[in-house]
Amino acid sequence: MASSLHGIWRFLHWGPLTALGIIKVITITALYMNSMWWPPNASLGGFIHQCLFLLFSTLTTYNYIMATLTGPGLLPKKWKPKNPKDVDQLQYCTICEGYKAPRSHHCRKCNRCVKKMDHHCPWINHCVGWANHAYFTYFLAFAILGSFQASIILGFAFYRGVHRYWYLTHGQMHLATVQFTMTTIIMTIFATGLAIGVVLALGMLLYIQLKSILKNQTSIEMWIVEKADYRRYCNLDEDDFVYPYDLGWRQNLLQVFSKRLVSKGDGITWPVLEGCDQYTLTREQIAQKAEKRARTKTFRCVHPATGRYLPLFSQGLRVCLSPPCTDEARIRLEPGDVIKVTRFREHWLFGERVVPAIELRNPELKRKGPTRGWFPRRCAIELIQPKHYFYSNSSEQSENEVESLDDRQYNARNVKIMNNATNGVPNTSKETLANGNSKQPTQNGQGKKKK
Ligand SMILES: [Zn+2]
Ligand SMILES: [Zn+2]
Repeated sequence: MASSLHGIWRFLHWGPLTALGIIKVITITALYMNSMWWPPNASLGGFIHQCLFLLFSTLTTYNYIMATLTGPGLLPKKWKPKNPKDVDQLQYCTICEGYKAPRSHHCRKCNRCVKKMDHHCPWINHCVGWANHAYFTYFLAFAILGSFQASIILGFAFYRGVHRYWYLTHGQMHLATVQFTMTTIIMTIFATGLAIGVVLALGMLLYIQLKSILKNQTSIEMWIVEKADYRRYCNLDEDDFVYPYDLGWRQNLLQVFSKRLVSKGDGITWPVLEGCDQYTLTREQIAQKAEKRARTKTFRCVHPATGRYLPLFSQGLRVCLSPPCTDEARIRLEPGDVIKVTRFREHWLFGERVVPAIELRNPELKRKGPTRGWFPRRCAIELIQPKHYFYSNSSEQSENEVESLDDRQYNARNVKIMNNATNGVPNTSKETLANGNSKQPTQNGQGKKKK
């Protein structure tokens, strides 16, 4: 615990402050109303009922604080596997300047590689991963139980409070115990709304977490497995993919919930199924990344994109009515920006803006907001790469070559082409766009749709 205290600054963020605020508002309001509705000093039932509520509230706060302080377990910077030959089977993190251990992923918010990363949770202002998975799951469970009990207390107390006059006039004095003031009536309504919201929202999250723990599969790994199956569905020559960490539900549960409350092992080596090894999943990830690189298309921005989730005024109704159903970031673009697109929807594209060297060198020019995310398809046109892009031996090398072209020259040429175009589709062939080096014509909007 003492070693975790240096993480105390993590509470100075809107997520933990709001979460702790919600827990305390529900607890204090429920305790106050309970003291009138079912006083703990009047009966044994009332005493046990209040003790149970205090226990849920304490355990919620304790597990919440421990989930934040313990953190997910960060992979040491510049981490390398013991056997240098194994590096071929691992991905490299350029930010942490080390290899990503099996099941580790780089979190952009924490800016570190995280052991068995599940997701970054703004409410604990940290990732949920190997070390705090149990604390986080217990927090969800106790918060749901406590909030459920609080909504019952508040609901019954509210009913008694609004019927107080009726009880008094009909000789049922023993029921007229709840007395409202303007403040308590507002607090009761507010806290009831919060408690019901917590039960519903965290109930959904707990269901997802338990499903993931029983399968020993984090939400990121679920996505990798889904892509692995899809790859084999499209390419029957590939060997079947066996997810290596699913040891059966009992063992899977023990992986997260051990007596120490911190998950088993060191978060780097994992027990795997027979026939699999430590790098079964990382090899699949590397293969998926290679496929992703192969289907990446380069686009250039021709109309500015605002980076808004619903760009009604700039893009119109059709774009707003078919948004990608995800909370992933939307990126702001300016004409001339180059974007490496990897996902394609009818009206939206997902990609990463290539940050020009000048912006990297000069912090003042650094543009605000994310560089990776969704943007309206009509803001950009697909760039057809010069001939050497298609025929060079290394796709990495050719990507660099495209990026190093004189940006201004390239931009001016494309804007000119767009000015000659009708409906935003350049009426030129691929040859014009690509310095006359390519073979087949292509138009904007022909991206391969992925599921
Ligand atoms: Zn990293
Ligand atoms: Zn994180």
